[in-house]
Amino acid sequence: MTSGTMMSLPLTLDLLIDRAHDRAGDVEVVSRRPDRSVERTTYRNVVTRARALARALVGAGIRPGARVATLMWNHAEHLEAYFGIPLAGAVVHTLNLRLHPDEIAFIADDAKDEVLLVDEVLLPLYEKFAAKVDFAKVIVVGATTTPTDGRIDYRAFVDAADPSTPLPRLAEDDACGCCYTSGTTGRPKGVVYTHRSTMLHSLVTAMPDCFGLSRTDTLLPVVPMFHVNAWGLPYTAAMVGTKLVLPGPYLDAPSLLDLMRDEGVTLAAGVPTIWLSIRDALEAERARWPLKPNVRMIVGGSAAPEQLIRDFDRLGLELIHAWGMTETSPLGLVSRVPPALVDAPEAERLAVRAKQGVPPPLVDVRVRNDAGDVPHDGRTSGEILIRAPWVTARYAGIDVPERWTADGYFRTGDVANIDVHGYVQLTDRTADLIKSGGEWIASAELENALMCHPAIREAAVIGVPHPKWSERPIAVVVFRSGQQATDDELRGFLAAKFPKYWLPDAFVVTDEIPRTSAGKFKKTALREQFKDHRWG
Ligand code: ADP
Repeated sequence: MTSGTMMSLPLTLDLLIDRAHDRAGDVEVVSRRPDRSVERTTYRNVVTRARALARALVGAGIRPGARVATLMWNHAEHLEAYFGIPLAGAVVHTLNLRLHPDEIAFIADDAKDEVLLVDEVLLPLYEKFAAKVDFAKVIVVGATTTPTDGRIDYRAFVDAADPSTPLPRLAEDDACGCCYTSGTTGRPKGVVYTHRSTMLHSLVTAMPDCFGLSRTDTLLPVVPMFHVNAWGLPYTAAMVGTKLVLPGPYLDAPSLLDLMRDEGVTLAAGVPTIWLSIRDALEAERARWPLKPNVRMIVGGSAAPEQLIRDFDRLGLELIHAWGMTETSPLGLVSRVPPALVDAPEAERLAVRAKQGVPPPLVDVRVRNDAGDVPHDGRTSGEILIRAPWVTARYAGIDVPERWTADGYFRTGDVANIDVHGYVQLTDRTADLIKSGGEWIASAELENALMCHPAIREAAVIGVPHPKWSERPIAVVVFRSGQQATDDELRGFLAAKFPKYWLPDAFVVTDEIPRTSAGKFKKTALREQFKDHRWG
């Protein structure tokens, strides 16, 4: 088929999957199992199983476009589902196991999921919402005993696939995956990825100035496969032929560091909370975990404090800061040091690395306010708007036209500025901005500054209703172990950077800041907790 002078080859996932089989067949896919054992397979086996899963699904009556849900940790069978469900022409819908069971039920129902693949260890969670959803089939993965109540054993289901079952022809605009937004700022909404968007996202994500995946790397996606497709990394790794290490349910720092040491991990990806605990563990016992030289770790999902990047530099590990959303597949911005600053003093390079960064090829990011695109002065703020072949053009099943501009950009709801190098710095989410006496205060900027104080591990800043000022900021802080600081010290620390009216009126010390299912500060819970705060 040609239109024009070159071959017109649809960008469908089978290209990537076939390549993993043919060109990276011997490359390992390692999974940590619930009993803590480590099991090894290869891309060749994963793809062979995935093709059988696709045939089994087609044989079971799954039609193109049908939604097949997964409720699973990161492991080889989840990768089989990532490949096998799209090969059947169906859509992998990864359910977030950290959500409340009622919310999982709402999402599975909203997405009209027909089949569920569920880890045996997650059956107790499934039981909590089973009565509220109606899957035609429930397939149990990793079953150690024969499933009951009409449920199907995954291994037997795949083994029984008829090798002569034909698989459907795929088209590049067909849906292949679906994730729901985590609903930090509203009702979860479905985003449906296509073969084409996933292929292009994988290609660009692998580029050297993005995540820089090589087939000489060993990749540990700590970010769950149910959170924006583990940032697309399983597909990117398969496309490149990168060894994959999948951590299963154990995401504590010693378990992850053991895997990084034992498997020779060179690249890992996760949210800041994961790297905070890894930093603490390495600072306490660096010699226990000899790691590969030049380990890179991608951090995103919420802001990486500059101090965290600095601490890891000292430990000999490189944090790479990236920004994205469920709606953007997620890669939208990534912050590697620009050529102009390669030889700049450390402080300058760090300041840039702590920003959210620049858009990769094929992504157009604007920061716009009522006056138009903001000047590149590193100060003027506006909303981040984004356009790319892997940014959603609509939500599934719900019409929210106000999220797109007339000229075709997606409105992110994130507030940012752009500096002279074109680096975007996120200052807050619109919903988290604090309005004090008619002026705006960016809570995330205060948090990031506080998290650079040597005594502070974590800080969340929220606006609390105030009789005179409408809202005033309160900072909720967690100290590093054995450290503390007085309110006056903290206020003095911030006063060097911010106007006086920005300084929090109170500092509340706590052991733990509540988190969302994606590891972000749960500001809705904090605002609720402090809504009746008594001002002195
Ligand atoms: P939700 O919008 O429900 O929280 P997402 O996981 O899609 O779910 O989160 C996207 C949001 O996460 C972005 O709009 C932004 O506010 C935040 N975010 C993602 N990466 C970063 C980052 N590197 N720095 C700061 N915030 C980030």
